Amino acid sequence: MAPAQTNPILPGSTLGILGGGQLGAMFAAAARRMGYRVEAISDVADCPAAIHCDRLHVGDYTDAAFLSRAATGLDVVTFEFENIPIVAGRALAAVVPVRPCPEVLFTTQDRGREKAFLVREGFACAPHRVVRSLDGLRAAVAALGLPAVLKTAAFGYDGKGQIRLTAEDEIDAAWATLGAHPTGPQELVLEGWIDFDCEISVVAARGLDGVIAPFAPSRNTHARHILDVASVPAALPDPVLQEATATAERILTALGVVGVACVEFFVTKNGRVLVNEIAPRTHNSGHLTIEACDTSQFEQQVRAVCGLPLGSTRQRSPAAMANLLGDCWPPSGRAAGREPDWAAALGVPGVTLHLYGKNEPRPGRKMGHLTAVADTVEEAIEKVTRARGLAGRG
Ligand code: AMP
Repeated sequence: MAPAQTNPILPGSTLGILGGGQLGAMFAAAARRMGYRVEAISDVADCPAAIHCDRLHVGDYTDAAFLSRAATGLDVVTFEFENIPIVAGRALAAVVPVRPCPEVLFTTQDRGREKAFLVREGFACAPHRVVRSLDGLRAAVAALGLPAVLKTAAFGYDGKGQIRLTAEDEIDAAWATLGAHPTGPQELVLEGWIDFDCEISVVAARGLDGVIAPFAPSRNTHARHILDVASVPAALPDPVLQEATATAERILTALGVVGVACVEFFVTKNGRVLVNEIAPRTHNSGHLTIEACDTSQFEQQVRAVCGLPLGSTRQRSPAAMANLLGDCWPPSGRAAGREPDWAAALGVPGVTLHLYGKNEPRPGRKMGHLTAVADTVEEAIEKVTRARGLAGRG
């Protein structure tokens, strides 16, 4: 392990970000504004972080030697992408402080381990079974009932690697799709279906000194398992919001997170708050903090991993964020020089546009987002969805 560092890492130092996606790009922009140098580590050269950082290291996330070479000269490394093998995380940590530490990634990158952590620590989550065989899947369905959701334990995101099961005759096909693998059976998790009232998330930072600063919970709606609109305030009774916030704080403490993490929740129709999943990094539902809060989630990540005091998470006004997926582009629009109508979207007062610089607008791919601030959350949602509708097919 690199020696524990407790002195703050000050502007002028060099921060490493593992992953080159939009979360890395927005982290780099916040850090450079504060006077840091940023080096991103990515497995592709043409990535959103490339234009926002001082240096890009391109290599394989499974190559521990590449990662430790890239980490030389960095003062701290943090993440925007958590699906790296634990040996690679440990290789980084041997050279440089890694925040959050690799063990946090190890727990949260695998649904089975994450659920085991939640159960062990007494956090309420969906009923579930870890499944390693077709017979195991049949037994899990018998135990949990249908409908249920079958998910790959590792490397799933944005609904990828998930199948909703509604009838027993779907079991074999679901196992064949997700579980059977040429290199051997994949570990899966079967979750009982939660007939939720809504989904919310809490983005929070935890500093080196253990101090926690949560942002207000966000209400999230999904389309095709991908976040569609996030809005704050979440317009739920205070006890529900307080329980979600307190649960997120306890999870960050139990995991020993130093940095930013997001806890996603299901709120059931009778007001129960169940943990869905944990992301040990900034989160799509926290993007509206850029315009709406005293400190953005990205500046907060810089502060937390550098051992600086956390910023105020006060929200200045209601806000809503709508994702811009590749679907917003006209079919083969980019090739034909056709873009969504950004001028129309920006004509809606209070709306800001973020585009991530990705070249290929594939369906389901997060290309950017819009944020609206307004006097009420209903107005913010109306503005941001109207702006997206004006831009394109949204
Ligand atoms: P996840 O990647 O696990 O967050 O799943 C993506 C989305 O699928 C969630 O945000 C929910 O909208 C939906 N989903 C996942 N698991 C369940 C479940 N057990 N019950 C109901 N909906 C679910």
